[in-house]
Amino acid sequence: MSDGPESLHLQTLSELSAGLAAGDFSSRELVDLLLRRIDDNKSLNAFITITAEGALAAADTADQARAAGSGGPLCGLPIVHKDLFCTAGVRTTCASRMLDNFVAPYDATVVANLANAGAVYLGKTNMDEFAMGSSNETSYFGDVKNPWDASKSPGGSSGGSAAAVAARLIPAATGTDTGGSIRQPAALTGTTGLKPTYGRVSRYGMVAFASSLDQAGVITRSAEDAALMLGAMAGFDERDSTSVDHPVPDYVSLLDAPLKGLRIGIVKQHFDDGLDAQCAARVKEALVALEGRGASLVEVDLPNLDLSVPTYYVVAPAECSSNLSRFDGVRFGHRAEDPKDLLDLYCRSRAEGFGPEVKRRIMTGTYVLSAGYYDAYYLQAQKVRQLISQDFKQAFDKVDLIAGPTAPTPAFALGEKTDDPITMYLNDIYTIGANLAGLPGISIPCGFSDSLPVGLQLVGPHFAEDVVLRCAHQYQSITDWHRQCPENFR
Ligand code: GLN
Repeated sequence: MSDGPESLHLQTLSELSAGLAAGDFSSRELVDLLLRRIDDNKSLNAFITITAEGALAAADTADQARAAGSGGPLCGLPIVHKDLFCTAGVRTTCASRMLDNFVAPYDATVVANLANAGAVYLGKTNMDEFAMGSSNETSYFGDVKNPWDASKSPGGSSGGSAAAVAARLIPAATGTDTGGSIRQPAALTGTTGLKPTYGRVSRYGMVAFASSLDQAGVITRSAEDAALMLGAMAGFDERDSTSVDHPVPDYVSLLDAPLKGLRIGIVKQHFDDGLDAQCAARVKEALVALEGRGASLVEVDLPNLDLSVPTYYVVAPAECSSNLSRFDGVRFGHRAEDPKDLLDLYCRSRAEGFGPEVKRRIMTGTYVLSAGYYDAYYLQAQKVRQLISQDFKQAFDKVDLIAGPTAPTPAFALGEKTDDPITMYLNDIYTIGANLAGLPGISIPCGFSDSLPVGLQLVGPHFAEDVVLRCAHQYQSITDWHRQCPENFR
């Protein structure tokens, strides 16, 4: 890394924090530099909204707080938010025409917590519409390009957050993960993506997709930064009834405990024919490296893993059809012009406001919840969800973590899977289980397949974010895959 302010974009949050504390540069200088980088790299399409004015004002406030000795743990550090977190006074679109002009009157708890910790947000990132997708191609605002190869998808749904972090436009970004939307784009862009335990981070002010699966998390360039961010985001929130009142440890202070004695589960179903051979090789090399740090590898079985995608594609659409019924052209979002009557207003507002993938989910969800099919599909899926949770529970009787691939292939070409939803849905085969069971998981870079990043996924028991982060951090302390930067963004 070269010295001087021009290389600040390459630094992690922790490094930037040390630089700010030492007075090497101000938050305003840092924010100003990153705003210019964001502006210079608009062709990635990683952002829906850039909040330059608000960011510079917040940076000044942070600089003053620091001078007065009163800044929080993230004082003056730049971040961005996925455009699904409500931000008071700044539009929140969910990458949908439906919410194109929606301005929330309040901040999501995640946004408020990070602001209270002193973080400065520079904008709202592009994503799949209502977080439904694995490639960022369902966005009303267009595809996001993968910084490693502009013809490839950055993954989704948090594709804008992942691309922005990978391209060194910002050191950290919030994301949400309902079936893999933090971990899969992190894998495809060579970044670090953490999805916490369901209930660890408040969902208040996060536009709902599938409420029993949605969880907020972060995309960063190191596990250490993910620990720093999680410490500020997590905690009980009385405004989210599923938020859990569980103490928030100092995640950063727990990163260095040795891995000796840690039992890591290897799932044999993870390495079947569906996995790209080079991805498999990189993941296996990573497992050997963890063994070298003192962890032991134990084979475990997740016998119902292949049912996770079909189960998810009943449960998630069912919940989405219910959650998205609020967008009726009356209370929120897009309203059709000159409606004939109330039904026409509902029908046309929704027909015009939602894109094809969202409509597909709403139709599937409505179908599986309908009187004649509820037992056969929705109830059955809930039962299988229990089986999948039990599989994990049994595995965690034997091991402390489960390790494997995050995604079956490296980044795929934009347009490659858009005509075939089933192939697109299979991209989340390794990530969805953690959502169905509410478990924490992280994806960290572990090498390359034909010059494209490969992700290693670590999944832990409920509230074992500290173990997940520690293992990821120890791996990153002996490798430098997480420091690799795409050529055009150095
Ligand atoms: N790719 C999955 C889907 O399309 C997961 C999305 C997510 O985690 N938000 O639903």
